[in-house]
Amino acid sequence: MLIKKIIIPKNITIFTLRNTSQNIQNWEHKQSSSVILRLITSCQKFYKEERTKMNKIFEEIFNYVKDLEIIDTHEHLPAFENEREKDTDVLKEYLTHYFNRDLISAGLSIDDYQKVLNNKVSLIKRWKLVEPYWEVARNTGYGRALDVSVKALYGVEKIHRSTIEHLNEAFLDSLKPGHFKKVLKEKSKIKVSLLDSNLECDKSFFRSVYRLDNFIYPNTGDDIEQIEKESATKICSLGDWLEICEIMLDKALSIGAVALKSGLAYRRTLKYERVSKNEAENGFNEIFKVKHSPDWENQVFMVGKKFQDYMMHFVLGLANKRNLTFQFHTGIQEGNGNIIYNSDPSLLSNLFLEYPNVDFDIFHIGYPYQQVLSVLAKTFPNVYIDMCWAHIISPTASINALIEWIDSVPINKISAFGGDYCFIDGVYGHQYLARINVSKSLAKKVEDSVFDIEKAKEISRMLFYNNPFKIFKLKGKI
Ligand SMILES: [Zn+2]
Repeated sequence: MLIKKIIIPKNITIFTLRNTSQNIQNWEHKQSSSVILRLITSCQKFYKEERTKMNKIFEEIFNYVKDLEIIDTHEHLPAFENEREKDTDVLKEYLTHYFNRDLISAGLSIDDYQKVLNNKVSLIKRWKLVEPYWEVARNTGYGRALDVSVKALYGVEKIHRSTIEHLNEAFLDSLKPGHFKKVLKEKSKIKVSLLDSNLECDKSFFRSVYRLDNFIYPNTGDDIEQIEKESATKICSLGDWLEICEIMLDKALSIGAVALKSGLAYRRTLKYERVSKNEAENGFNEIFKVKHSPDWENQVFMVGKKFQDYMMHFVLGLANKRNLTFQFHTGIQEGNGNIIYNSDPSLLSNLFLEYPNVDFDIFHIGYPYQQVLSVLAKTFPNVYIDMCWAHIISPTASINALIEWIDSVPINKISAFGGDYCFIDGVYGHQYLARINVSKSLAKKVEDSVFDIEKAKEISRMLFYNNPFKIFKLKGKI
C-alpha cells in the first residue's frame, strides 16, 4: 500500500528484484523492504532539495519585487486625504466593501451587518456579532489582505477578538494627516494611483480616470440635471447630448484625466450592438419627453438598450480619435449577487475590432473568465490585461493565470496591480499579496527553465511599472 502512495521522481533509479526461486522469497521480501525504505528516503531528499531550490528562487525574486516602485492602475480612495471619513472605526471602515461580502456570503444577516457598522455601539459587542463569520472567511484573499495590512501598518498579528480593541486604538490614531503618505508612498512604494472618477484629486498620489457612463446609461433626472449643471447647458435634443458629451470629455482631458473607464457591466451586458442614430433618438425622446415636468429629477428611467448601445459606440468613436485608453470592468461584480455572464470580456470583441485606436484595458483579469481574456489579449493588439482587484479576489487564480499568460500572451500587455480599494489600509495588503503572487508565478517559470532569475526581475519591472506606464500613456504626466 505504501509504495502506491509514492510519486517517484524521474531521476531516481528503481531497482527491481527478480524472483528466481521460491527458496529466496523470504530473503527477497527483506531486501525489498530495504529498497523501499531507501527509495522513500531518496524521494524525501529529492523533494526537500526541490522545495529548497524553489524557495531560493522565489526568495531571490521576491526580495527584488518587494522594493519595486509600482504604478497602481485603479483605486476608489478619497481624492484628498482630508475627505476621509472621520466618524468611523476599524470595523466600520474595513467592512465598507469586499470582506463584508464574504461575511454576508458566510451567513451574516444584512441586519447584523448594519449593526456592525454602527460605531456608536461598543466595539467588542459588534465584534462578537461578526466573529463566527470572520473566522470562516478569514482565509479568503479579502480576509488575508486585511491581516497583512494590520500587521504591517499597526504591528498587530491578525484581526481577532484578542487584538480588535488595541487595533482600533491604533487605527483611530491613523485618521490624522500623513497616513495616506505612509501607506501609499512609504509602505506600498506606489508612484501613482489611477483614481476612478474624481477629476479633482491630490496629484501627489493620483491621476484621474474619467467616466462617461452617465451619458451612456442615464438613470434618473438627477443624472441629467447634474450633466446640465456641470456643462452649464440646457439639453433639448440628442444633438445637444452628444455635443456636451464630447465637450465634457475634452474638459476632463484638459484638466488631467489620463484614461476613460466604464463600469456598466454591473448593470447590463457588455454586448454593445451597432445601432442607427434614428433608433437611438427614439430612446432619447422616450426619456426626455417629460423633461421639466414636476418631480422629473427624481424619476428612475429605463433607458433603452439601443440608446445605450449607440452612446457607447459614440463614446468609443471619441476615444478612437484621441487614441485613449479605456478601462472596462469585466468579470466578478462587487456585491452579494449579480449576473456574471453579463461581464464576460469576450462580449466586447466587436468593439475591439471596430475601434483599433482605442487601447482596451480589461479589468479584474475578467475573473472567472481569465482564460477567455488570455485569448483576447493574445489575438487583439489593442487588448490589455489588468490584474487590478484580482490578487485579493483569488490569490491562486492570479498566480495560475499569470503562469499561463506568460505562455500565451506577450509580456508587455499585462499590468500587475491595481488596489481597487475604497479605504486606504486595504491598498497595503493588496499590493503585498500582488508582489508575492507575481514572484510565485515568475519563480515557477524560472524553475521550468523558461527564463533565468535576471529575466524574471526584468519582467516584474514591466508588469508593475513599465507596462502600465505605456498602456496609460503616462509619459510627461507623472
Ligand atoms: Zn473598481
